[in-house]
Amino acid sequence: MSRKKIVIVEDEPDILEVLSYNLKREGYDVLTAAEGSSGLALIRREIPDLVLLDLMLPGLDGIEICGSIKKDAQTQHCLIIMVTAKGEESDIVLGLGVGADDYIAKPFSPRELIARVKAVLRRGVMAERHEPEEHITLGDLSIDTVKYKVQVKGHDVKLTASEFKLLHFLSSYPGRVFTREQLLSKALGDDVVIVDRNIDVHIRGIRKKLELDPPIIETIRGIGYRMTDHF
Ligand code: CA
Repeated sequence: MSRKKIVIVEDEPDILEVLSYNLKREGYDVLTAAEGSSGLALIRREIPDLVLLDLMLPGLDGIEICGSIKKDAQTQHCLIIMVTAKGEESDIVLGLGVGADDYIAKPFSPRELIARVKAVLRRGVMAERHEPEEHITLGDLSIDTVKYKVQVKGHDVKLTASEFKLLHFLSSYPGRVFTREQLLSKALGDDVVIVDRNIDVHIRGIRKKLELDPPIIETIRGIGYRMTDHF
């Protein structure tokens, strides 16, 4: 397997150093930029597998860069992890909305960083060969997408159509955070009979019916929801 190429765009030298050092040590090809416009130019030239993107940058900010990467056919398959600070929840929501794949909040440990990078790269590989799965099994949960059947520990669970769609969608991307907006448009978008467009209500319904403790759908405060990837 060829070495994965990662571009880091980060204007704080200390953080850039930590990111770069740890990713190189892990065997990745690492290229860096400390400013937004040169960062985007570097990404366009190198077409990396993954971009680690600070949000607050001189020049172009992270959200603009993220949008540009995902709008350009050349670069839209680059995976993006936003590197964020505490209190940037609304920017994270924006970033996920324009196509960022994940985020990591400062301060983070090298271990956390590497785990996140590996998880996102792995999900990227899975997405490439994405075929609709007939059966999804996550821990005690199993979903039959042909028969629209959900079971927990072998017992049937009755979900509404919207709950099923949401659960199926989230289960297809364990570990990935989605905003409420994304869940509405991506998971329920073509559902013309959604009675309630309030995602929180559906999630509550799913959790109650699955009776799994801790709930496998995690609330990400200020941002949205994700299916756990700890099974
Ligand atoms: Ca910054």
